[in-house]
Amino acid sequence: TAVFPRNTPSPADIWQMDHDHVLHPWANFGPFEEKGALVIARGEGCHLWDAEGRRYFDAIGGMWCTNIGQGRKEMADAIAAQVERLAFSNTFVDTTNEPSAMLAAKLAELAPGDLNRVHFTTGGSTAVDTAYRMVQYCQHCMGRPEKTQIIARNMSYHGSTYISQSVGKRPGDRVEQFRYKLDGIHHISAPNPYRAPEGMDEAAFCDWLVAEFEAKIAEIGPDRVGGFFAEPIQASGGVIVPPEGYLRRMREVCDRHDILFVADEVVTAFGRIGHWFASESEFGIVPDIITCAKGLTSGYIPLGALIFSDRIWEAMAADGGRWFTSGFTYSGHPVACAAGLKNIEIMEREDILGNAARVGALFEARMKRLEALPMVGQVRGRKLMICVENVADKETRALLPEDLDVGTRIADAAEAMGLMVRPMGHLNVMSPPLTLTAGDVEFVGDTLERAIRQVADDLTRAGIRLS
Ligand code: PLP
Repeated sequence: TAVFPRNTPSPADIWQMDHDHVLHPWANFGPFEEKGALVIARGEGCHLWDAEGRRYFDAIGGMWCTNIGQGRKEMADAIAAQVERLAFSNTFVDTTNEPSAMLAAKLAELAPGDLNRVHFTTGGSTAVDTAYRMVQYCQHCMGRPEKTQIIARNMSYHGSTYISQSVGKRPGDRVEQFRYKLDGIHHISAPNPYRAPEGMDEAAFCDWLVAEFEAKIAEIGPDRVGGFFAEPIQASGGVIVPPEGYLRRMREVCDRHDILFVADEVVTAFGRIGHWFASESEFGIVPDIITCAKGLTSGYIPLGALIFSDRIWEAMAADGGRWFTSGFTYSGHPVACAAGLKNIEIMEREDILGNAARVGALFEARMKRLEALPMVGQVRGRKLMICVENVADKETRALLPEDLDVGTRIADAAEAMGLMVRPMGHLNVMSPPLTLTAGDVEFVGDTLERAIRQVADDLTRAGIRLS
C-alpha cells in the first residue's frame, strides 16, 4: 500500500496512490494491476501534459467533452466569481438562482421546436435516467398509463446508472451479474450500414430497420410502447451514422403511435458535428426530449440536462396538484450553470461551431484517407466525431481475434508518438476539441497513419494474416 506522502507527491507517488485506491470506470483488473494509469497533470487548448512533462494532442477530447479546449482563464474566472457570489443554493420547489434560470432560458433559445423546458441533472446518465421516468410519467398524464415500454437500439450507450445502462446495450458492457432491468426495455438493431445484412444497400437497409421497428411495436402492442431512445449518431457503440432518412422515418413511426422520441445528444450537442443540436440541424427531426451533458460545460464542471417540449410540460401540469418527484441535490447548481453560460458565450463569440464545421470537414476527409491503409476496414463519422474500424480482412470485414486488442495496440503506439486516440475493442475513436486547426488535422492524420502502419507491420511479422 502506498504511504501517504507528506510533501508534494512525485509522479510515482500519484501513480501508486491511484493504483492502490482508485477503481477506474471500465478498467480491466488484470492489465490495470500491471500497468496502472497514465497521470495527466495539465491541459491547455487541445493538448495534455503527463506528470513527467510529456505532451499529447488529445484527440479524445477528454471524453467527447472538452469542446472549447482546456485551460481558459475566462472559464476559471467565471467559475471563481460564482463560487464567491453563491457557491450553492438548491432548486427544489421554491428557490432558484440566476445562472440556472439564465442557462435554462438560453437552452430553450438554442433547442429546436417547442423544446422550451429544462430539468438539470448531474451528467448524461442522470439525464437519460430521468428521461426514462419522464416518458412513463408523461404518458400517464396524457391518459395512456399502459404505455410503459421503451424501445432502444443495440450498440447504444446511454450512461452508467441502472436504468441508463439498461437502456443502452453494448455487448461488452453486459456483465450478467449486474442484473440489468430487462422487463420493459426492448432493443432493435443498430443502424450500422457497414454491418448491414449481406447484399443490402443503404436504402434497403433503412427500409429493413424501419420495418423492424414497426414489427417490434406490433409485437409489444402499440398501446404499450411509451418511448424510443436514440443517439442521433451512436457514439460509444462505434460512431454509427444511420442511413439517410432513418431518423426522420423513425420519428414518423413514433408520431403515428404516440411514442415519445428521446434524442440522447450527450455527445452530439454543443458543436461536435457543427450544430448546437444535431437532431434538427443535421437530421431534420424535432424530438420530444433531448438529453445533453458533456459539451454543455465543455467538461469544466459536471452538468447535464433534459430539454423537453411545452407539450410534455402542459400534459404533466394540466390538472395542477401533480409533482415531478425527480431531481438531484445539484440540479441547477449555480457554479455548474455559470460554467455552462460562459461556455456557450465563448462558443458564440468565437464562432466555435463554425470552426467545428469547417475544420471538422477537413478532419473527416483526412481521416477517410486512412481507408487506404492495411487493416482499416472503414473510417466513419461526421466532422469531429470519427471512428476507425480495424479488420483482419477488408473484403469480408472479418475482425481480428479479440485478444489481439488491436485498438489498444494502435492507441498505445499513437500515445508514444504524442497523440491520444481512444481504443474501443477493434475500434479507435476520436472527438477532439472543436478549436483544432487545419495543422492539427494534419498532425493527427499523419501520426495515426504511422501508428496503424506500425501495428500492422508488427502483426504481420508475428504471423497474423491481414488482407
Ligand atoms: N449518453 C451518451 C450518448 C453518452 O455517450 C454518455 C457518456 O459517454 C452518456 C449518456 C452518459 O453521460 P455521463 O457519463 O455524463 O453520465
